[in-house]
Amino acid sequence: MVTRQALNVTVNQMTNLRDTSLLHRPYEACSLLLGLVKDRIFLVKEIYHMQNVDRARNTFQMSGIDLMNAYEYSLGKNLDVIGIFHSHISGIRPSKKDMRFMEINPVVWLIYSVSDYQFGAYIMESTLKDVPIEVFRDLAFQHREEKGQLHVYYPKK
Ligand SMILES: [Zn+2]
Repeated sequence: MVTRQALNVTVNQMTNLRDTSLLHRPYEACSLLLGLVKDRIFLVKEIYHMQNVDRARNTFQMSGIDLMNAYEYSLGKNLDVIGIFHSHISGIRPSKKDMRFMEINPVVWLIYSVSDYQFGAYIMESTLKDVPIEVFRDLAFQHREEKGQLHVYYPKK
């Protein structure tokens, strides 16, 4: 049985990523999503903003030193890099270049389009797969840990 996948984020995290993306126009913003993966549910605990060293309008690149710092930071917080965020000027689908990097970085890729005001989430698992995005009011609502067991809660409609 294949359990379903999902990216769990909070309203604040989404607002933060949207605002960062709008601020970086016409360039792409990029961030790392730090958190935990439990039963194919990607729980975002923190957003770690990165500098886009590419300064191009349709690509992004993170510097090696920034990545080293980010991994050191997340290690100290007992978190993993569970996703990569970046913005697009238009469209939420991964570009050809994105897809090449998705193959070597099989984490969730979250994309925000500043002209469409939309998010898309994907993972490369031999083929490109859509990952449903579940937005929660806050982290406490998102999950709680009990005896090492992580329980995922879903908001009431
Ligand atoms: Zn892209």
